[in-house]
Amino acid sequence: MRDLISRETFGVGDVAYPGIYCLDHGFVKLVDCMPRLIPDDEESADHAIAEAARCSYQRGTKTVADDKTLIRYLMRHNHTSPLEMVEFKFHVKLPIFVARQMIRHRTASVNELSGRYSEMLEEYYIPGELRVQSLMNIQGSEGSLSDADTQMTKGLMRLQSEDAFKFYARLLDKGVAREQARVGLPLSTYTEWYWKIDLKNLLHFLDIRCDHHAQKEIQDYGNAILGLIKPIVPWTIEAWEDYSPYRGGMILTRYEVETLRDWIISERANDFNFDTEELKVDSKLEKKEWAEKKLKLGFT
Ligand SMILES: Cc1cc2nc3c(=O)[nH]c(=O)nc-3n(C[C@H](O)[C@H](O)[C@H](O)COP(=O)(O)OP(=O)(O)OC[C@H]3O[C@@H](n4cnc5c(N)ncnc54)[C@H](O)[C@@H]3O)c2cc1C
Repeated sequence: MRDLISRETFGVGDVAYPGIYCLDHGFVKLVDCMPRLIPDDEESADHAIAEAARCSYQRGTKTVADDKTLIRYLMRHNHTSPLEMVEFKFHVKLPIFVARQMIRHRTASVNELSGRYSEMLEEYYIPGELRVQSLMNIQGSEGSLSDADTQMTKGLMRLQSEDAFKFYARLLDKGVAREQARVGLPLSTYTEWYWKIDLKNLLHFLDIRCDHHAQKEIQDYGNAILGLIKPIVPWTIEAWEDYSPYRGGMILTRYEVETLRDWIISERANDFNFDTEELKVDSKLEKKEWAEKKLKLGFT
């Protein structure tokens, strides 16, 4: 058996867990994963997913698919329960406003630093760049403030945070309980937690939090997590990159399919001899699936 987590790689902080720094004071560390030990002749935790899937297919399969092919099949067909056999535990340090987005992922188990028990450290997030409110996307941002405005505004943000922490310290000095003294601290204050989630739900998190619609700050955490798990489940991540509608794949609505089909038929796209063989994959099964989709799109 061998250990999948190499502690010699890029340690963050005192304990040399593999980790990646995020924002100005944050990080994600990979504390543990399941399976962590794999047989010597296996390369990654992908094997655990394939083995779990074989449990359902064992009597029905005509051919024994290799792990990678099987995982790609599972991913294309939304057969996600074998992905739940792999779990990751992270130690994350993040601003409270990012934590509020991350906590929405209800399938994770969380244990957070207690501001009732411990005094909050004076650590708050000051953005590197200040983005401008988007006019097209009410929830989003685009472009950035001029350098001069950025410097001035960041100075103001720092002052406001310093004031909030000074006030916090004064309240504590007066004997106010930590649980009440903290109420005026900014959303930019850093918190920490342990965050454990299975791979199925983690991919869902990565789908929507690495996507460009998500706030840039949580994208940083999503991308850090992605970087940490990729060496552990490389084939699963490769399949996710290829098929997830948030990555290389796409879901079309009925209206989009109809529009595309009408265009294909009217443009006589069949004349281009659009052959199933042209799909740039080796898998026969995937070519067959594409043939079915082609038919739906109006190719004959
Ligand atoms: C770009 C963006 C903008 C957002 N804006 C807002 C906003 O303005 N306001 C806001 O409140 N939230 C907002 N959210 C949060 C969003 O609505 C979801 O709450 C969050 O992304 C978690 O997604 P989830 O529920 O699918 O994930 P999880 O909670 O991790 O759940 C994973 C899956 O498990 C299943 N599941 C879990 N719990 C239940 C349940 N109780 N019932 C049924 N099925 C369940 C569902 O299939 C779900 O997809 C935003 C998210 C994004 C990415």
